[in-house]
Amino acid sequence: KDWATDQEVRWCPGCGDYAVLKAVQRTMPDLGVAREKTVFVSGIGCSSRFPYYMETYGFHTIHGRAPAVATGIKLANPELDVWIITGDGDALSIGGNHTMHVLRRNLDCQILLFNNEIYGLTKGQYSPTSRPGTRSPSTPFGSVDRPARPCAFALGAGARFVARGIDVNKNLPDVLKAAHAHRGAAFVEIFQNCVVYNDDVFAPFTAREVASEMQLWLKPGEKMLFADGTKGIALDHDTLSLRVVAGDDPAVLTHDPANRMLAHLLVEMPGQGFPVALGVLYDDPAPTFEAAVLEQNHTVAAGKKADLQALVSKGQSWMVEKEPRAE
Ligand code: SF4
Repeated sequence: KDWATDQEVRWCPGCGDYAVLKAVQRTMPDLGVAREKTVFVSGIGCSSRFPYYMETYGFHTIHGRAPAVATGIKLANPELDVWIITGDGDALSIGGNHTMHVLRRNLDCQILLFNNEIYGLTKGQYSPTSRPGTRSPSTPFGSVDRPARPCAFALGAGARFVARGIDVNKNLPDVLKAAHAHRGAAFVEIFQNCVVYNDDVFAPFTAREVASEMQLWLKPGEKMLFADGTKGIALDHDTLSLRVVAGDDPAVLTHDPANRMLAHLLVEMPGQGFPVALGVLYDDPAPTFEAAVLEQNHTVAAGKKADLQALVSKGQSWMVEKEPRAE
Protein backbone atom coordinates (compact mmCIF):
# COMPACT_ATOMS: atom_id res chain seq x y z
CA LYS A 1 0.00 0.00 0.00
CA ASP A 2 1.09 3.56 -0.69
CA TRP A 3 3.06 5.20 2.12
CA ALA A 4 2.03 8.72 1.13
CA THR A 5 -0.87 10.52 2.79
CA ASP A 6 -3.41 12.59 0.91
CA GLN A 7 -2.28 15.73 2.76
CA GLU A 8 -1.26 18.67 0.62
CA VAL A 9 2.55 18.92 0.70
CA ARG A 10 3.44 22.44 1.74
CA TRP A 11 7.01 23.14 0.73
CA CYS A 12 8.16 25.75 -1.78
CA PRO A 13 8.05 24.55 -5.41
CA GLY A 14 11.43 23.02 -6.26
CA CYS A 15 12.50 22.42 -2.64
CA GLY A 16 14.84 19.46 -2.13
CA ASP A 17 12.52 18.18 0.60
CA TYR A 18 10.21 16.77 -2.09
CA ALA A 19 12.99 14.56 -3.42
CA VAL A 20 13.83 13.24 0.05
CA LEU A 21 10.16 12.55 0.76
CA LYS A 22 9.89 10.59 -2.48
CA ALA A 23 13.06 8.64 -1.70
CA VAL A 24 11.75 7.69 1.76
CA GLN A 25 8.31 6.76 0.44
CA ARG A 26 9.93 4.61 -2.23
CA THR A 27 12.25 2.94 0.30
CA MET A 28 9.72 2.04 2.99
CA PRO A 29 8.00 -0.87 1.20
CA ASP A 30 11.39 -2.57 0.79
CA LEU A 31 12.16 -2.48 4.51
CA GLY A 32 9.56 -5.06 5.47
CA VAL A 33 8.13 -3.05 8.37
CA ALA A 34 4.39 -2.50 8.72
CA ARG A 35 3.16 1.09 8.57
CA GLU A 36 1.46 0.74 11.96
CA LYS A 37 4.85 -0.20 13.45
CA THR A 38 6.54 2.89 12.00
CA VAL A 39 6.82 6.34 13.60
CA PHE A 40 8.24 9.54 12.16
CA VAL A 41 9.21 12.14 14.76
CA SER A 42 10.23 15.68 13.87
CA GLY A 43 11.10 18.94 15.56
CA ILE A 44 10.53 22.36 14.00
CA GLY A 45 11.61 23.60 10.59
CA CYS A 46 10.70 23.08 6.95
CA SER A 47 11.75 19.42 6.97
CA SER A 48 9.81 18.81 10.17
CA ARG A 49 6.51 18.84 8.27
CA PHE A 50 7.61 15.40 7.07
CA PRO A 51 5.46 13.22 9.39
CA TYR A 52 2.26 14.71 7.93
CA TYR A 53 3.12 13.24 4.56
CA MET A 54 3.78 9.67 5.67
CA GLU A 55 0.95 7.18 6.11
CA THR A 56 2.41 6.06 9.47
CA TYR A 57 2.30 7.24 13.04
CA GLY A 58 3.99 10.59 13.48
CA PHE A 59 4.82 13.33 15.97
CA HIS A 60 5.54 16.94 15.01
CA THR A 61 7.13 17.93 18.30
CA ILE A 62 8.90 21.02 19.63
CA HIS A 63 12.09 22.65 18.47
CA GLY A 64 15.12 20.40 18.80
CA ARG A 65 13.32 17.84 20.97
CA ALA A 66 12.53 15.10 18.48
CA PRO A 67 15.30 12.88 19.94
CA ALA A 68 13.76 13.13 23.42
CA VAL A 69 10.30 12.17 22.15
CA ALA A 70 11.77 9.40 20.02
CA THR A 71 13.59 8.03 23.08
CA GLY A 72 10.32 7.89 24.99
CA ILE A 73 8.58 6.14 22.11
CA LYS A 74 11.31 3.54 21.76
CA LEU A 75 11.47 2.82 25.47
CA ALA A 76 7.70 2.47 25.67
CA ASN A 77 7.59 0.13 22.69
CA PRO A 78 10.98 -1.07 21.43
CA GLU A 79 9.30 -2.90 18.55
CA LEU A 80 8.49 0.35 16.79
CA ASP A 81 10.61 1.51 13.89
CA VAL A 82 11.49 5.11 14.74
CA TRP A 83 12.70 7.77 12.31
CA ILE A 84 13.79 11.24 13.42
CA ILE A 85 13.44 14.00 10.84
CA THR A 86 15.37 17.15 11.58
CA GLY A 87 17.23 20.06 10.02
CA ASP A 88 20.56 21.76 10.58
CA GLY A 89 19.06 24.39 12.88
CA ASP A 90 16.75 22.00 14.72
CA ALA A 91 19.41 19.32 15.29
CA LEU A 92 22.55 21.36 15.80
CA SER A 93 21.43 24.62 17.38
CA ILE A 94 18.50 24.43 19.80
CA GLY A 95 18.54 20.64 19.63
CA GLY A 96 22.30 20.10 19.64
CA ASN A 97 22.19 18.80 23.18
CA HIS A 98 19.44 16.29 22.41
CA THR A 99 21.10 15.12 19.21
CA MET A 100 24.31 14.49 21.08
CA HIS A 101 22.62 12.33 23.70
CA VAL A 102 20.50 10.24 21.37
CA LEU A 103 23.69 9.42 19.48
CA ARG A 104 25.88 8.58 22.46
CA ARG A 105 23.09 6.52 24.02
CA ASN A 106 22.71 4.66 20.75
CA LEU A 107 18.92 4.55 20.59
CA ASP A 108 17.85 2.25 17.76
CA CYS A 109 16.47 4.79 15.27
CA GLN A 110 17.24 6.49 11.98
CA ILE A 111 18.10 10.19 12.13
CA LEU A 112 17.73 12.06 8.85
CA LEU A 113 19.31 15.50 9.10
CA PHE A 114 18.25 17.70 6.18
CA ASN A 115 21.18 20.07 5.85
CA ASN A 116 20.41 23.14 3.74
CA GLU A 117 22.83 25.42 5.62
CA ILE A 118 20.08 27.96 6.37
CA TYR A 119 16.95 28.53 8.48
CA GLY A 120 14.28 28.24 5.77
CA LEU A 121 11.08 28.28 7.82
CA THR A 122 11.93 31.56 9.59
CA LYS A 123 12.96 33.20 6.32
CA GLY A 124 16.62 32.70 5.73
CA GLN A 125 18.70 33.40 8.81
CA TYR A 126 22.13 31.75 8.86
CA SER A 127 22.31 28.39 10.65
CA PRO A 128 24.98 26.39 12.51
CA THR A 129 26.10 24.86 9.22
CA SER A 130 26.19 28.08 7.14
CA ARG A 131 29.56 28.82 5.60
CA PRO A 132 31.62 31.78 6.79
CA GLY A 133 30.53 34.93 5.01
CA THR A 134 26.90 33.83 4.55
CA ARG A 135 24.77 36.95 4.12
CA SER A 136 21.35 36.60 5.70
CA PRO A 137 18.80 38.73 7.58
CA SER A 138 20.66 37.95 10.82
CA THR A 139 24.14 38.39 9.29
CA PRO A 140 23.75 41.28 6.80
CA PHE A 141 27.53 41.74 6.55
CA GLY A 142 28.25 38.01 6.34
CA SER A 143 28.54 35.40 9.09
CA VAL A 144 31.85 35.31 10.94
CA ASP A 145 31.64 32.07 12.91
CA ARG A 146 32.83 28.67 11.82
CA PRO A 147 30.18 26.13 10.82
CA ALA A 148 29.47 22.79 12.47
CA ARG A 149 29.97 19.70 10.31
CA PRO A 150 27.04 17.36 11.02
CA CYS A 151 28.87 14.06 10.42
CA ALA A 152 31.89 15.18 12.44
CA PHE A 153 29.51 16.18 15.24
CA ALA A 154 27.81 12.77 15.08
CA LEU A 155 31.10 10.87 15.18
CA GLY A 156 32.33 13.03 18.04
CA ALA A 157 29.13 12.29 19.96
CA GLY A 158 29.77 8.56 19.62
CA ALA A 159 27.53 7.65 16.68
CA ARG A 160 28.09 4.10 15.38
CA PHE A 161 26.61 4.76 11.94
CA VAL A 162 27.27 7.86 9.87
CA ALA A 163 26.27 8.37 6.25
CA ARG A 164 25.74 11.12 3.71
CA GLY A 165 23.36 11.50 0.79
CA ILE A 166 22.08 14.11 -1.64
CA ASP A 167 18.38 14.96 -1.91
CA VAL A 168 18.03 14.31 -5.65
CA ASN A 169 20.63 11.55 -5.99
CA LYS A 170 19.38 8.13 -7.06
CA ASN A 171 21.59 6.50 -4.40
CA LEU A 172 19.63 8.00 -1.51
CA PRO A 173 17.31 4.97 -1.08
CA ASP A 174 20.38 2.72 -0.74
CA VAL A 175 21.76 4.98 1.98
CA LEU A 176 18.39 4.89 3.77
CA LYS A 177 18.28 1.10 3.56
CA ALA A 178 21.77 0.83 5.02
CA ALA A 179 20.78 3.16 7.86
CA HIS A 180 17.71 1.06 8.56
CA ALA A 181 19.72 -2.17 8.53
CA HIS A 182 22.03 -0.80 11.23
CA ARG A 183 20.88 -1.61 14.76
CA GLY A 184 21.42 1.53 16.84
CA ALA A 185 21.35 5.25 16.10
CA ALA A 186 21.95 5.68 12.36
CA PHE A 187 22.83 9.24 11.45
CA VAL A 188 22.31 10.37 7.85
CA GLU A 189 23.19 13.87 6.66
CA ILE A 190 21.26 14.74 3.51
CA PHE A 191 22.44 17.70 1.48
CA GLN A 192 19.12 19.41 0.72
CA ASN A 193 18.76 22.36 -1.58
CA CYS A 194 16.71 25.30 -0.30
CA VAL A 195 15.76 26.98 -3.55
CA VAL A 196 14.47 30.10 -1.84
CA TYR A 197 17.12 31.10 0.70
CA ASN A 198 20.27 29.16 -0.19
CA ASP A 199 19.87 27.95 -3.75
CA ASP A 200 22.74 25.94 -5.22
CA VAL A 201 24.87 26.13 -2.10
CA PHE A 202 25.95 22.52 -2.81
CA ALA A 203 26.38 23.03 -6.54
CA PRO A 204 30.21 22.83 -6.30
CA PHE A 205 29.78 19.07 -5.87
CA THR A 206 26.18 18.36 -6.91
CA ALA A 207 26.05 20.12 -10.29
CA ARG A 208 25.80 17.62 -13.13
CA GLU A 209 29.00 18.77 -14.81
CA VAL A 210 31.17 18.27 -11.69
CA ALA A 211 29.38 15.38 -9.97
CA SER A 212 31.66 12.60 -11.22
CA GLU A 213 34.76 14.48 -10.07
CA MET A 214 33.46 15.87 -6.81
CA GLN A 215 31.39 13.02 -5.43
CA LEU A 216 33.05 10.01 -3.87
CA TRP A 217 30.48 7.25 -3.28
CA LEU A 218 31.84 4.68 -0.87
CA LYS A 219 31.24 0.99 -1.17
CA PRO A 220 32.38 -1.26 1.69
CA GLY A 221 35.32 -3.45 0.81
CA GLU A 222 35.96 -1.70 -2.47
CA LYS A 223 38.66 0.70 -3.40
CA MET A 224 37.60 4.27 -2.99
CA LEU A 225 37.06 5.06 -6.61
CA PHE A 226 35.37 8.04 -8.14
CA ALA A 227 32.37 7.59 -10.34
CA ASP A 228 34.59 7.52 -13.41
CA GLY A 229 36.63 4.65 -11.93
CA THR A 230 40.00 6.23 -12.67
CA LYS A 231 40.95 7.87 -9.38
CA GLY A 232 41.20 6.86 -5.76
CA ILE A 233 41.90 8.18 -2.30
CA ALA A 234 45.15 7.53 -0.49
CA LEU A 235 46.06 8.21 3.10
CA ASP A 236 49.22 10.19 3.71
CA HIS A 237 50.55 8.61 6.92
CA ASP A 238 52.86 11.51 7.75
CA THR A 239 50.20 14.20 7.72
CA LEU A 240 47.21 11.90 8.36
CA SER A 241 45.45 13.51 5.45
CA LEU A 242 43.79 12.15 2.32
CA ARG A 243 44.94 12.82 -1.21
CA VAL A 244 43.63 12.04 -4.66
CA VAL A 245 45.70 9.48 -6.58
CA ALA A 246 45.42 7.38 -9.72
CA GLY A 247 43.01 4.46 -9.45
CA ASP A 248 45.76 1.84 -9.86
CA ASP A 249 48.01 3.37 -7.19
CA PRO A 250 48.79 0.61 -4.63
CA ALA A 251 48.31 3.17 -1.87
CA VAL A 252 44.61 3.49 -2.65
CA LEU A 253 42.57 2.74 0.44
CA THR A 254 40.02 0.02 0.78
CA HIS A 255 36.89 1.28 2.44
CA ASP A 256 36.32 -0.43 5.77
CA PRO A 257 33.14 1.04 7.28
CA ALA A 258 34.14 -0.17 10.76
CA ASN A 259 37.37 1.87 10.69
CA ARG A 260 36.63 4.81 12.95
CA MET A 261 39.87 6.64 12.21
CA LEU A 262 39.13 6.50 8.50
CA ALA A 263 35.61 7.76 9.17
CA HIS A 264 37.05 10.78 10.96
CA LEU A 265 39.17 11.54 7.92
CA LEU A 266 36.26 11.07 5.53
CA VAL A 267 33.95 13.44 7.37
CA GLU A 268 36.52 16.19 7.01
CA MET A 269 35.80 16.07 3.28
CA PRO A 270 34.84 18.25 1.40
CA GLY A 271 37.48 20.92 1.37
CA GLN A 272 39.83 22.66 -1.00
CA GLY A 273 38.65 20.97 -4.14
CA PHE A 274 38.61 17.54 -2.54
CA PRO A 275 35.62 15.31 -3.39
CA VAL A 276 32.78 14.86 -0.93
CA ALA A 277 32.60 11.41 0.66
CA LEU A 278 29.07 10.03 0.27
CA GLY A 279 27.25 6.86 1.21
CA VAL A 280 28.03 4.93 4.38
CA LEU A 281 31.10 6.49 5.97
CA TYR A 282 30.99 4.52 9.23
CA ASP A 283 29.09 1.44 10.35
CA ASP A 284 30.13 -0.40 13.50
CA PRO A 285 27.18 -1.60 15.61
CA ALA A 286 27.14 -1.53 19.41
CA PRO A 287 24.49 -2.48 22.03
CA THR A 288 21.48 -0.19 21.94
CA PHE A 289 20.16 2.03 24.70
CA GLU A 290 16.71 0.48 24.91
CA ALA A 291 18.14 -3.05 25.08
CA ALA A 292 20.28 -2.03 28.06
CA VAL A 293 17.34 -0.31 29.79
CA LEU A 294 15.05 -3.28 29.28
CA GLU A 295 17.65 -5.71 30.54
CA GLN A 296 18.19 -3.60 33.64
CA ASN A 297 14.42 -3.34 34.24
CA HIS A 298 14.06 -7.10 34.04
CA THR A 299 16.98 -7.62 36.39
CA VAL A 300 15.61 -5.16 38.92
CA ALA A 301 12.10 -6.59 38.64
CA ALA A 302 13.42 -10.11 39.10
CA GLY A 303 15.40 -8.95 42.12
CA LYS A 304 12.34 -7.31 43.67
CA LYS A 305 10.33 -10.46 43.15
CA ALA A 306 13.02 -12.49 44.85
CA ASP A 307 13.12 -10.02 47.79
CA LEU A 308 9.35 -10.21 48.13
CA GLN A 309 9.35 -13.98 48.14
CA ALA A 310 12.03 -13.95 50.83
CA LEU A 311 9.94 -11.61 53.00
CA VAL A 312 6.79 -13.65 52.58
CA SER A 313 8.61 -16.85 53.40
CA LYS A 314 9.77 -15.26 56.65
CA GLY A 315 6.15 -14.42 57.47
CA GLN A 316 6.75 -10.68 57.31
CA SER A 317 4.47 -8.17 55.68
CA TRP A 318 5.94 -6.26 52.76
CA MET A 319 3.48 -3.41 53.46
CA VAL A 320 5.08 -0.49 55.25
CA GLU A 321 2.92 0.75 58.09
CA LYS A 322 2.40 4.49 58.07
CA GLU A 323 3.50 6.42 61.11
CA PRO A 324 0.50 7.84 62.98
CA ARG A 325 0.17 11.55 62.13
CA ALA A 326 1.21 13.84 65.02
CA GLU A 327 -1.76 15.89 66.33
FE1 SF4 B 1 12.35 24.25 1.12
FE2 SF4 B 1 13.72 26.47 1.58
FE3 SF4 B 1 11.13 26.61 0.98
FE4 SF4 B 1 11.93 25.65 3.31
S1 SF4 B 1 12.20 27.74 2.60
S2 SF4 B 1 10.35 24.76 1.99
S3 SF4 B 1 13.83 24.56 2.78
S4 SF4 B 1 12.79 25.87 -0.36
